[in-house]
Amino acid sequence: MYTGSCLCGDIKFEAKDETLSVMNCHCSMCRKQHGAAYATFIGTQTENVTILSGEDKLTRYRSSEHVERCFCAQCGSSLLFYYSPRPELMWFAAGALDESPEFAPQEHIYVGSKAPWHTITDDLPQYKTYPSQEGNEQNG
Ligand SMILES: [Zn+2]
Ligand SMILES: [Zn+2]
Repeated sequence: MYTGSCLCGDIKFEAKDETLSVMNCHCSMCRKQHGAAYATFIGTQTENVTILSGEDKLTRYRSSEHVERCFCAQCGSSLLFYYSPRPELMWFAAGALDESPEFAPQEHIYVGSKAPWHTITDDLPQYKTYPSQEGNEQNG
């Protein structure tokens, strides 16, 4: 079981360690939301994640037609990501974890919109958009 929390600590969640995927997303929306070169998200079954406290501060923002991003209304920490066509799945921000998990990112996604000032220096697979999207070719 992993535990995560926001910067101010009001929102806490736990997630069973049944990780489906760990990805560094370089899309412009993740970059802006995290204020960082990319966001690391951990995909899991929605039923694996439980909000332990601070649910009243958990604020949803619909960043595109099918995506809702949840953050703390008090401190702004990015925490959860929902994609409405796949309600059985969700993603949570690796940066919110309180202890070191036993996993590492597996791939870079949306590298086609990567920050021009950021250089990827590892050998993980890179995808221009999302790996499962039709017609998407692996970059590297
Ligand atoms: Zn907070
Ligand atoms: Zn993204």
